[in-house]
Amino acid sequence: RMRRPEAECRHDIDTFTPGLLALYESLKPSEEHRSKQKQLVDSLAKSVSKEWPNAQMHLYGSCANSFGTSHSDVDVCLEMETGTQDAIEVLVKLADVLRTDGFENVEAITSARVPIVRMSDPGSGFSCDICINNLLAVANTKLLKDYAQIDQRLLQLAFLVKHWAKQRGVNETYRGTLSSYAYVLMCINFLQQCEPKILPCLQAMEPTYKLTVDGTECAYFDKVDQLQGFGADNKASVAELLWGFFHYWASQHHYKRDVISVRLGKTISKQEKRWTTRVGNDRHLVCIEDPFEVSHDLGRVVDRQTIRILREEMERAAVVLQHDDDPCVTLFEPY
Ligand code: ATP
Ligand code: MG
Repeated sequence: RMRRPEAECRHDIDTFTPGLLALYESLKPSEEHRSKQKQLVDSLAKSVSKEWPNAQMHLYGSCANSFGTSHSDVDVCLEMETGTQDAIEVLVKLADVLRTDGFENVEAITSARVPIVRMSDPGSGFSCDICINNLLAVANTKLLKDYAQIDQRLLQLAFLVKHWAKQRGVNETYRGTLSSYAYVLMCINFLQQCEPKILPCLQAMEPTYKLTVDGTECAYFDKVDQLQGFGADNKASVAELLWGFFHYWASQHHYKRDVISVRLGKTISKQEKRWTTRVGNDRHLVCIEDPFEVSHDLGRVVDRQTIRILREEMERAAVVLQHDDDPCVTLFEPY
């Protein structure tokens, strides 16, 4: 039986920072990776423009939000007038065009919450998801990217958390665990709430960026170059923050009562959002509010069984960082 994590982290925690930073460096995509990504995007743009000359291509997700590792896929959103056609018809047509142009494993996935075409690029082997007019994802991509520029510890923490989640098998929404996007929001919220704060709450500041998508207003302060050094009073090392993150999710977060909100830079009650576990099919066991689509709970995929797995993994991570002789290895052991 595992020991419960303690309230204070070990005194020698900082000795693990160099090892964790070396791991972070090794996870960052290489120059070669970036140039292959660019080639894929260029050849995709060529195919699309033949059929839809007015379509605009946006990159979103981790290839554009700066949280991408060398294992991340490429996420592309096409912005276009679809006229009388609906997005699904356009996607089916797009899949045909891409097959003709030599892309591999092309598949229109039309039943998903966000319908996409998925394919792989024979040149690079990368997998690529394409959606149509999903501009909320483009907006949240920019929000994440802007947060990442305020304090480098966000990227470091989030890369390590994403790596941990992939290694431990808790980064699979189709199996009831959380998306990469959800983990990054958890990291941002954690750094908004630590004392002294490492990140501000950009949506609570005077907006300098505004975009309205299907009636949803996306507005926040995006002049992040003015926020350099915001978190400088907090001297916590990456090892300490990583422990703090898992400690928070293992034993401090009030799962039954609270929702984490990057939009507000704090937690709010489920009651306030009417996200009590009884409403309809939505389980709301782990509540993570989308910063723009505020009725959307990124934790809704979690069920009674997977919340147990998630919490056990969070607890294991906190205990490993607290007590293990070689936490940089043990923490990321494949499950
Ligand atoms: P990875 O490195 O694992 O590919 P990612 O950030 O690209 O990380 P994806 O799961 O591929 O993560 O998601 C891509 C993007 O789609 C996210 O950055 C976000 O903009 C959007 N997204 C993903 N899941 C959701 C969701 N449940 N609700 C709203 N937007 C989402
Ligand atoms: Mg992705």
